[in-house]
Amino acid sequence: MSKILVQKFGGTSVGDPERIRRVANRIKSYHDKGYQLVVVVSAMGDTTDDLIDLAAKISANPPKREMDMLLSTGEQISVSLLAMALHEIHVPARSFTGGQVHIVTDGNFSNARIESIDTKRLSAELDKGQVCIVAGFQGIDQNQNITTLGRGGSDTTAVALAAALKAKECEIYTDVDGVYTTDPNKVEKARKLDQISYDEMLELASLGAGVLHSRSVEFAKKYEVIIHVKSSFNYSEGTKVVSESQIMEKITVTGVTLKSDDARMTVADIPDKPGVAAEIFQVLADKKINIDVIVQSSSRPDRSTGKDRTNTIAFTLPIAAVAEAKETLQPLIAKWGAGNISADANIAIVSAVGVGMKSHTGVAASMFKALADNGINIEMISTSEIKISCVIAKDRGKDALRLIHTVFGLDKDS
Ligand code: ADP
Ligand code: ASP
Ligand code: MG
Repeated sequence: MSKILVQKFGGTSVGDPERIRRVANRIKSYHDKGYQLVVVVSAMGDTTDDLIDLAAKISANPPKREMDMLLSTGEQISVSLLAMALHEIHVPARSFTGGQVHIVTDGNFSNARIESIDTKRLSAELDKGQVCIVAGFQGIDQNQNITTLGRGGSDTTAVALAAALKAKECEIYTDVDGVYTTDPNKVEKARKLDQISYDEMLELASLGAGVLHSRSVEFAKKYEVIIHVKSSFNYSEGTKVVSESQIMEKITVTGVTLKSDDARMTVADIPDKPGVAAEIFQVLADKKINIDVIVQSSSRPDRSTGKDRTNTIAFTLPIAAVAEAKETLQPLIAKWGAGNISADANIAIVSAVGVGMKSHTGVAASMFKALADNGINIEMISTSEIKISCVIAKDRGKDALRLIHTVFGLDKDS
Protein backbone atom coordinates (compact mmCIF):
# COMPACT_ATOMS: atom_id res chain seq x y z
CA MET A 1 0.00 0.00 0.00
CA SER A 2 1.24 3.45 -0.92
CA LYS A 3 2.64 5.49 1.96
CA ILE A 4 1.88 8.71 0.12
CA LEU A 5 -1.02 10.70 1.49
CA VAL A 6 -2.33 13.91 -0.06
CA GLN A 7 -3.98 16.35 2.33
CA LYS A 8 -5.69 19.57 1.28
CA PHE A 9 -6.57 22.43 3.62
CA GLY A 10 -9.14 25.02 2.52
CA GLY A 11 -9.09 28.77 3.02
CA THR A 12 -10.88 28.85 6.37
CA SER A 13 -8.62 26.11 7.73
CA VAL A 14 -5.54 28.29 7.14
CA GLY A 15 -7.38 31.58 7.77
CA ASP A 16 -5.00 33.00 10.40
CA PRO A 17 -1.58 32.25 11.97
CA GLU A 18 -3.11 30.24 14.82
CA ARG A 19 -4.99 28.03 12.36
CA ILE A 20 -1.86 27.59 10.24
CA ARG A 21 -0.07 26.39 13.36
CA ARG A 22 -2.89 23.95 14.09
CA VAL A 23 -2.71 22.59 10.54
CA ALA A 24 1.07 22.19 10.95
CA ASN A 25 0.50 20.14 14.11
CA ARG A 26 -1.94 17.88 12.35
CA ILE A 27 0.53 17.37 9.50
CA LYS A 28 3.25 16.55 12.04
CA SER A 29 1.08 13.80 13.56
CA TYR A 30 0.80 12.12 10.14
CA HIS A 31 4.47 12.70 9.41
CA ASP A 32 5.32 11.02 12.72
CA LYS A 33 3.23 8.02 11.67
CA GLY A 34 5.52 7.56 8.67
CA TYR A 35 3.38 8.91 5.85
CA GLN A 36 4.99 10.68 2.90
CA LEU A 37 2.93 13.84 2.72
CA VAL A 38 1.92 16.15 -0.09
CA VAL A 39 -0.11 19.00 1.33
CA VAL A 40 -2.15 21.31 -0.88
CA VAL A 41 -3.38 24.61 0.53
CA SER A 42 -5.77 27.33 -0.55
CA ALA A 43 -5.29 31.03 -0.01
CA MET A 44 -5.94 32.28 3.54
CA GLY A 45 -9.57 33.17 4.34
CA ASP A 46 -11.02 35.66 1.87
CA THR A 47 -7.72 36.46 0.17
CA THR A 48 -8.89 35.42 -3.31
CA ASP A 49 -12.02 37.60 -3.05
CA ASP A 50 -9.93 40.49 -1.75
CA LEU A 51 -7.55 40.18 -4.70
CA ILE A 52 -10.50 40.22 -7.11
CA ASP A 53 -11.79 43.40 -5.43
CA LEU A 54 -8.34 44.93 -5.65
CA ALA A 55 -8.13 44.26 -9.38
CA ALA A 56 -11.57 45.83 -9.86
CA LYS A 57 -10.19 49.07 -8.40
CA ILE A 58 -7.65 49.18 -11.23
CA SER A 59 -9.62 47.83 -14.17
CA ALA A 60 -13.22 46.95 -15.01
CA ASN A 61 -12.02 44.38 -17.50
CA PRO A 62 -8.55 43.17 -16.57
CA PRO A 63 -6.68 40.84 -18.96
CA LYS A 64 -7.37 37.24 -17.88
CA ARG A 65 -3.68 36.40 -17.90
CA GLU A 66 -2.95 39.16 -15.39
CA MET A 67 -5.91 38.11 -13.22
CA ASP A 68 -4.43 34.61 -12.94
CA MET A 69 -1.01 36.04 -12.14
CA LEU A 70 -2.63 38.07 -9.36
CA LEU A 71 -4.91 35.37 -7.91
CA SER A 72 -2.13 32.78 -7.81
CA THR A 73 -0.30 34.92 -5.24
CA GLY A 74 -2.89 34.11 -2.55
CA GLU A 75 -1.79 30.48 -2.43
CA GLN A 76 1.89 31.44 -2.45
CA ILE A 77 1.38 33.23 0.85
CA SER A 78 -0.26 30.26 2.55
CA VAL A 79 2.19 27.61 1.30
CA SER A 80 5.23 29.52 2.48
CA LEU A 81 3.70 30.32 5.89
CA LEU A 82 2.70 26.68 6.39
CA ALA A 83 6.21 25.51 5.50
CA MET A 84 7.58 27.99 8.08
CA ALA A 85 5.13 26.71 10.71
CA LEU A 86 6.35 23.16 10.05
CA HIS A 87 9.98 24.24 10.39
CA GLU A 88 9.10 25.75 13.77
CA ILE A 89 8.03 22.30 14.99
CA HIS A 90 11.02 20.59 13.35
CA VAL A 91 9.23 18.95 10.43
CA PRO A 92 11.25 19.17 7.19
CA ALA A 93 9.01 20.91 4.64
CA ARG A 94 9.31 22.83 1.39
CA SER A 95 6.70 24.90 -0.41
CA PHE A 96 6.14 24.89 -4.17
CA THR A 97 4.08 26.75 -6.74
CA GLY A 98 2.02 24.72 -9.21
CA GLY A 99 4.58 25.44 -11.92
CA GLN A 100 7.49 24.24 -9.78
CA VAL A 101 5.90 20.81 -9.45
CA HIS A 102 4.98 20.71 -13.15
CA ILE A 103 1.21 20.97 -12.99
CA VAL A 104 0.68 21.72 -16.68
CA THR A 105 -2.69 23.09 -17.78
CA ASP A 106 -4.29 24.34 -20.98
CA GLY A 107 -4.17 28.09 -21.55
CA ASN A 108 -7.75 28.80 -20.54
CA PHE A 109 -7.04 31.51 -17.95
CA SER A 110 -9.33 31.58 -14.89
CA ASN A 111 -10.74 28.13 -15.66
CA ALA A 112 -7.77 26.07 -16.86
CA ARG A 113 -7.79 22.29 -17.00
CA ILE A 114 -4.91 20.18 -15.78
CA GLU A 115 -3.37 18.33 -18.73
CA SER A 116 -0.41 16.59 -17.13
CA ILE A 117 1.63 16.40 -13.96
CA ASP A 118 5.26 15.35 -13.97
CA THR A 119 5.84 13.98 -10.47
CA LYS A 120 9.63 13.68 -10.74
CA ARG A 121 10.41 16.63 -8.51
CA LEU A 122 7.78 15.81 -5.91
CA SER A 123 8.86 12.17 -5.74
CA ALA A 124 12.48 13.20 -5.27
CA GLU A 125 11.56 15.60 -2.45
CA LEU A 126 9.35 12.97 -0.78
CA ASP A 127 12.18 10.47 -0.96
CA LYS A 128 14.38 12.98 0.84
CA GLY A 129 11.83 13.01 3.66
CA GLN A 130 10.41 16.45 2.91
CA VAL A 131 6.78 17.28 3.44
CA CYS A 132 5.81 18.94 0.14
CA ILE A 133 3.48 21.91 0.46
CA VAL A 134 1.92 22.71 -2.93
CA ALA A 135 -0.02 25.83 -3.86
CA GLY A 136 -3.55 24.82 -4.85
CA PHE A 137 -5.68 26.28 -7.65
CA GLN A 138 -2.75 27.04 -9.99
CA GLY A 139 -0.73 25.57 -12.81
CA ILE A 140 1.39 26.64 -15.71
CA ASP A 141 0.56 26.43 -19.40
CA GLN A 142 2.86 25.34 -22.22
CA ASN A 143 4.03 28.93 -22.68
CA GLN A 144 5.02 29.24 -19.00
CA ASN A 145 2.05 31.44 -18.15
CA ILE A 146 0.54 31.01 -14.70
CA THR A 147 -3.05 29.76 -14.90
CA THR A 148 -5.77 29.17 -12.31
CA LEU A 149 -8.27 26.32 -12.21
CA GLY A 150 -11.53 28.11 -11.38
CA ARG A 151 -12.90 29.07 -7.96
CA GLY A 152 -12.57 26.25 -5.48
CA GLY A 153 -9.92 24.65 -7.69
CA SER A 154 -7.50 23.66 -4.91
CA ASP A 155 -9.56 20.49 -4.43
CA THR A 156 -8.73 19.58 -8.01
CA THR A 157 -5.01 20.21 -7.48
CA ALA A 158 -5.12 17.81 -4.52
CA VAL A 159 -7.01 15.01 -6.24
CA ALA A 160 -4.96 15.32 -9.43
CA LEU A 161 -1.74 15.05 -7.38
CA ALA A 162 -3.16 12.05 -5.51
CA ALA A 163 -3.92 10.38 -8.84
CA ALA A 164 -0.51 11.19 -10.35
CA LEU A 165 1.36 9.99 -7.24
CA LYS A 166 -0.90 6.94 -6.79
CA ALA A 167 -1.52 8.07 -3.23
CA LYS A 168 -3.39 5.98 -0.71
CA GLU A 169 -6.09 8.60 -0.32
CA CYS A 170 -6.81 12.30 -0.78
CA GLU A 171 -7.98 13.98 2.42
CA ILE A 172 -9.86 17.25 1.97
CA TYR A 173 -9.93 19.23 5.23
CA THR A 174 -12.57 21.92 5.37
CA ASP A 175 -14.78 23.92 7.76
CA VAL A 176 -17.62 21.37 8.02
CA ASP A 177 -17.52 17.75 9.23
CA GLY A 178 -17.95 16.18 5.81
CA VAL A 179 -20.44 16.05 2.95
CA TYR A 180 -23.99 16.65 4.14
CA THR A 181 -27.39 15.96 2.59
CA THR A 182 -27.39 19.68 1.77
CA ASP A 183 -25.38 22.76 2.78
CA PRO A 184 -25.41 22.64 6.61
CA ASN A 185 -24.91 26.40 6.67
CA LYS A 186 -28.22 26.86 4.81
CA VAL A 187 -30.35 24.05 6.25
CA GLU A 188 -30.05 23.33 9.96
CA LYS A 189 -31.54 19.86 9.58
CA ALA A 190 -28.87 18.74 7.09
CA ARG A 191 -27.39 15.35 7.97
CA LYS A 192 -23.77 14.26 7.52
CA LEU A 193 -23.22 11.34 5.14
CA ASP A 194 -20.67 8.62 5.91
CA GLN A 195 -20.24 7.73 2.24
CA ILE A 196 -21.32 9.03 -1.14
CA SER A 197 -20.66 7.73 -4.66
CA TYR A 198 -18.57 9.60 -7.22
CA ASP A 199 -21.56 10.07 -9.52
CA GLU A 200 -23.75 11.51 -6.81
CA MET A 201 -20.97 13.79 -5.55
CA LEU A 202 -20.29 14.93 -9.10
CA GLU A 203 -23.93 15.88 -9.63
CA LEU A 204 -24.13 17.62 -6.23
CA ALA A 205 -20.92 19.54 -6.88
CA SER A 206 -22.02 20.65 -10.36
CA LEU A 207 -25.41 21.67 -9.00
CA GLY A 208 -24.03 23.99 -6.35
CA ALA A 209 -22.73 21.96 -3.37
CA GLY A 210 -19.56 24.02 -2.94
CA VAL A 211 -17.89 21.54 -0.59
CA LEU A 212 -15.90 19.99 -3.48
CA HIS A 213 -14.84 21.41 -6.83
CA SER A 214 -16.68 19.31 -9.41
CA ARG A 215 -13.58 18.66 -11.50
CA SER A 216 -11.87 17.14 -8.46
CA VAL A 217 -14.62 14.54 -8.34
CA GLU A 218 -14.23 13.85 -12.09
CA PHE A 219 -10.53 13.15 -11.51
CA ALA A 220 -11.26 10.99 -8.49
CA LYS A 221 -13.75 8.88 -10.41
CA LYS A 222 -11.50 8.49 -13.43
CA TYR A 223 -8.43 7.48 -11.44
CA GLU A 224 -10.28 5.81 -8.56
CA VAL A 225 -8.87 8.12 -5.92
CA ILE A 226 -10.69 7.86 -2.60
CA ILE A 227 -11.61 11.36 -1.41
CA HIS A 228 -12.05 11.71 2.32
CA VAL A 229 -13.73 14.97 3.33
CA LYS A 230 -13.01 15.89 6.97
CA SER A 231 -13.12 18.83 9.33
CA SER A 232 -9.88 20.64 10.07
CA PHE A 233 -11.34 21.72 13.41
CA ASN A 234 -11.97 18.30 14.97
CA TYR A 235 -11.11 14.62 14.57
CA SER A 236 -14.50 13.21 13.50
CA GLU A 237 -14.74 10.56 10.78
CA GLY A 238 -15.88 12.68 7.83
CA THR A 239 -17.28 11.43 4.52
CA LYS A 240 -15.71 9.10 1.98
CA VAL A 241 -16.38 9.59 -1.71
CA VAL A 242 -16.08 6.14 -3.27
CA SER A 243 -17.31 4.07 -6.21
CA GLU A 244 -20.96 3.08 -6.29
CA SER A 245 -20.19 -0.60 -5.81
CA GLN A 246 -18.75 0.15 -2.36
CA ILE A 247 -21.96 1.76 -1.13
CA MET A 248 -24.14 -0.59 0.87
CA GLU A 249 -27.34 1.30 1.21
CA LYS A 250 -28.92 2.65 -1.98
CA ILE A 251 -31.19 5.38 -0.69
CA THR A 252 -33.40 7.07 -3.28
CA VAL A 253 -32.30 10.65 -2.70
CA THR A 254 -28.87 11.24 -1.17
CA GLY A 255 -28.71 15.01 -1.28
CA VAL A 256 -30.34 18.21 -2.46
CA THR A 257 -28.85 21.45 -3.74
CA LEU A 258 -29.73 25.03 -4.50
CA LYS A 259 -27.93 27.04 -7.15
CA SER A 260 -28.59 30.77 -7.17
CA ASP A 261 -25.86 32.11 -9.43
CA ASP A 262 -27.39 31.00 -12.73
CA ALA A 263 -29.59 32.99 -15.10
CA ARG A 264 -32.02 31.83 -17.77
CA MET A 265 -31.37 32.95 -21.31
CA THR A 266 -34.19 32.73 -23.82
CA VAL A 267 -33.57 32.78 -27.55
CA ALA A 268 -37.05 33.23 -29.02
CA ASP A 269 -38.61 33.13 -32.48
CA ILE A 270 -35.74 31.41 -34.19
CA PRO A 271 -36.15 29.24 -37.31
CA ASP A 272 -37.40 25.69 -36.72
CA LYS A 273 -34.96 23.75 -38.87
CA PRO A 274 -32.14 21.27 -38.41
CA GLY A 275 -28.89 22.74 -37.14
CA VAL A 276 -30.20 25.78 -35.29
CA ALA A 277 -29.78 24.34 -31.80
CA ALA A 278 -26.45 22.84 -32.80
CA GLU A 279 -25.17 26.25 -33.91
CA ILE A 280 -26.33 27.98 -30.72
CA PHE A 281 -24.71 25.50 -28.37
CA GLN A 282 -21.57 25.15 -30.48
CA VAL A 283 -20.74 28.85 -30.33
CA LEU A 284 -21.41 28.85 -26.59
CA ALA A 285 -19.25 25.76 -26.11
CA ASP A 286 -16.45 27.41 -28.10
CA LYS A 287 -16.51 30.19 -25.51
CA LYS A 288 -16.50 27.52 -22.76
CA ILE A 289 -19.79 28.80 -21.37
CA ASN A 290 -21.32 26.23 -19.07
CA ILE A 291 -24.93 25.43 -19.97
CA ASP A 292 -27.15 23.46 -17.65
CA VAL A 293 -30.91 23.05 -18.07
CA ILE A 294 -32.16 23.32 -21.68
CA VAL A 295 -35.78 23.56 -22.78
CA GLN A 296 -37.02 23.90 -26.34
CA SER A 297 -40.54 24.71 -27.39
CA SER A 298 -41.81 25.26 -30.92
CA SER A 299 -44.79 27.20 -32.09
CA ARG A 300 -47.28 25.80 -34.57
CA PRO A 301 -47.13 26.97 -38.17
CA ASP A 302 -49.33 29.92 -38.76
CA ARG A 303 -51.90 28.56 -41.26
CA SER A 304 -53.43 31.94 -42.12
CA THR A 305 -50.14 33.57 -43.04
CA GLY A 306 -48.39 30.37 -44.03
CA LYS A 307 -45.36 31.51 -42.02
CA ASP A 308 -42.81 28.89 -41.00
CA ARG A 309 -42.76 27.38 -37.56
CA THR A 310 -40.48 29.03 -35.06
CA ASN A 311 -38.64 27.74 -32.03
CA THR A 312 -37.81 29.11 -28.64
CA ILE A 313 -34.82 27.71 -26.81
CA ALA A 314 -34.21 28.55 -23.18
CA PHE A 315 -31.24 27.46 -21.10
CA THR A 316 -29.48 28.28 -17.85
CA LEU A 317 -25.94 29.59 -17.61
CA PRO A 318 -23.82 31.38 -14.98
CA ILE A 319 -24.99 34.97 -14.42
CA ALA A 320 -21.38 36.02 -14.95
CA ALA A 321 -21.49 34.63 -18.51
CA VAL A 322 -24.68 36.38 -19.65
CA ALA A 323 -23.04 39.35 -21.37
CA GLU A 324 -20.55 37.18 -23.23
CA ALA A 325 -23.29 34.72 -24.27
CA LYS A 326 -25.43 37.54 -25.67
CA GLU A 327 -22.52 38.90 -27.64
CA THR A 328 -21.70 35.42 -28.93
CA LEU A 329 -25.26 34.67 -30.09
CA GLN A 330 -25.97 38.04 -31.71
CA PRO A 331 -24.23 37.16 -35.02
CA LEU A 332 -26.41 34.05 -35.37
CA ILE A 333 -29.61 36.09 -34.94
CA ALA A 334 -28.28 38.49 -37.54
CA LYS A 335 -27.49 35.63 -39.92
CA TRP A 336 -30.93 34.02 -39.52
CA GLY A 337 -32.66 37.40 -39.76
CA ALA A 338 -34.92 36.21 -36.95
CA GLY A 339 -34.96 35.83 -33.20
CA ASN A 340 -34.36 37.80 -30.04
CA ILE A 341 -32.39 37.18 -26.88
CA SER A 342 -33.41 37.92 -23.31
CA ALA A 343 -32.01 36.97 -19.92
CA ASP A 344 -33.51 36.62 -16.46
CA ALA A 345 -31.29 36.38 -13.39
CA ASN A 346 -34.24 35.97 -11.04
CA ILE A 347 -34.10 32.21 -10.98
CA ALA A 348 -32.77 29.43 -8.79
CA ILE A 349 -32.19 25.78 -9.59
CA VAL A 350 -33.21 23.27 -6.95
CA SER A 351 -32.14 19.66 -7.45
CA ALA A 352 -32.43 16.23 -5.88
CA VAL A 353 -29.67 13.66 -6.46
CA GLY A 354 -29.48 9.95 -5.71
CA VAL A 355 -28.35 6.71 -7.37
CA GLY A 356 -31.44 5.04 -5.94
CA MET A 357 -33.51 6.98 -8.50
CA LYS A 358 -32.40 4.46 -11.10
CA SER A 359 -34.59 1.84 -9.48
CA HIS A 360 -37.32 3.89 -7.81
CA THR A 361 -40.27 5.44 -9.58
CA GLY A 362 -42.26 8.47 -8.53
CA VAL A 363 -39.32 10.57 -7.35
CA ALA A 364 -40.03 13.37 -9.82
CA ALA A 365 -43.73 13.29 -8.94
CA SER A 366 -42.97 13.68 -5.20
CA MET A 367 -40.70 16.63 -5.86
CA PHE A 368 -43.17 18.39 -8.19
CA LYS A 369 -46.02 17.83 -5.75
CA ALA A 370 -44.05 19.24 -2.81
CA LEU A 371 -43.31 22.37 -4.81
CA ALA A 372 -46.90 22.66 -6.09
CA ASP A 373 -48.43 22.20 -2.62
CA ASN A 374 -46.39 25.17 -1.50
CA GLY A 375 -47.30 27.39 -4.42
CA ILE A 376 -43.87 27.23 -6.04
CA ASN A 377 -44.10 27.33 -9.82
CA ILE A 378 -41.74 25.12 -11.83
CA GLU A 379 -40.40 27.07 -14.79
CA MET A 380 -38.07 24.47 -16.33
CA ILE A 381 -37.24 20.83 -15.62
CA SER A 382 -34.19 18.72 -16.38
CA THR A 383 -33.44 15.14 -15.39
CA SER A 384 -30.69 12.58 -15.62
CA GLU A 385 -30.62 9.00 -14.42
CA ILE A 386 -29.70 10.15 -10.92
CA LYS A 387 -30.99 13.75 -10.61
CA ILE A 388 -33.98 16.00 -11.05
CA SER A 389 -33.56 19.76 -11.34
CA CYS A 390 -36.29 22.41 -11.32
CA VAL A 391 -35.86 26.06 -12.22
CA ILE A 392 -37.99 28.22 -9.93
CA ALA A 393 -38.21 31.87 -8.84
CA LYS A 394 -35.11 32.96 -6.94
CA ASP A 395 -37.03 34.27 -3.92
CA ARG A 396 -38.49 30.80 -3.28
CA GLY A 397 -35.13 29.01 -3.54
CA LYS A 398 -34.47 28.47 0.16
CA ASP A 399 -38.07 27.39 0.85
CA ALA A 400 -37.88 24.88 -1.98
CA LEU A 401 -34.56 23.49 -0.73
CA ARG A 402 -35.92 22.92 2.80
CA LEU A 403 -39.13 21.42 1.44
CA ILE A 404 -37.53 18.79 -0.73
CA HIS A 405 -34.97 18.02 1.99
CA THR A 406 -37.91 17.13 4.24
CA VAL A 407 -39.98 15.37 1.56
CA PHE A 408 -37.17 12.96 0.74
CA GLY A 409 -36.67 12.08 4.43
CA LEU A 410 -33.25 13.71 4.71
CA ASP A 411 -33.89 15.82 7.84
CA LYS A 412 -31.72 15.02 10.81
CA ASP A 413 -33.64 12.93 13.38
CA SER A 414 -36.41 12.16 10.89
P1 ADP B 1 -12.76 25.27 1.66
O1 ADP B 1 -12.26 26.65 1.81
O2 ADP B 1 -12.31 24.36 2.77
O3 ADP B 1 -12.50 24.69 0.30
P2 ADP B 1 -15.50 25.71 0.90
O4 ADP B 1 -16.16 26.94 1.42
O5 ADP B 1 -15.05 25.70 -0.51
O6 ADP B 1 -14.32 25.34 1.90
O7 ADP B 1 -16.46 24.44 1.12
C1 ADP B 1 -17.03 24.17 2.38
C2 ADP B 1 -18.43 24.75 2.44
O8 ADP B 1 -19.27 24.07 1.51
C3 ADP B 1 -19.15 24.56 3.77
O9 ADP B 1 -18.84 25.59 4.66
C4 ADP B 1 -20.62 24.55 3.36
O10 ADP B 1 -21.25 25.79 3.64
C5 ADP B 1 -20.61 24.36 1.86
N1 ADP B 1 -21.46 23.26 1.40
C6 ADP B 1 -22.36 23.33 0.37
N2 ADP B 1 -23.00 22.19 0.21
C7 ADP B 1 -22.52 21.32 1.12
C8 ADP B 1 -22.80 19.96 1.43
N3 ADP B 1 -23.72 19.25 0.76
N4 ADP B 1 -22.10 19.39 2.44
C9 ADP B 1 -21.18 20.09 3.12
N5 ADP B 1 -20.87 21.39 2.88
C10 ADP B 1 -21.54 22.01 1.90
N1 ASP C 1 -8.35 30.25 -3.38
C1 ASP C 1 -9.17 29.77 -4.46
C2 ASP C 1 -10.60 30.26 -4.28
O1 ASP C 1 -10.89 30.96 -3.34
C3 ASP C 1 -9.11 28.29 -4.64
C4 ASP C 1 -9.68 27.47 -3.52
O2 ASP C 1 -9.94 27.97 -2.43
O3 ASP C 1 -9.85 26.28 -3.72
O4 ASP C 1 -11.43 29.97 -5.10
MG1 MG D 1 -13.48 24.83 -1.53
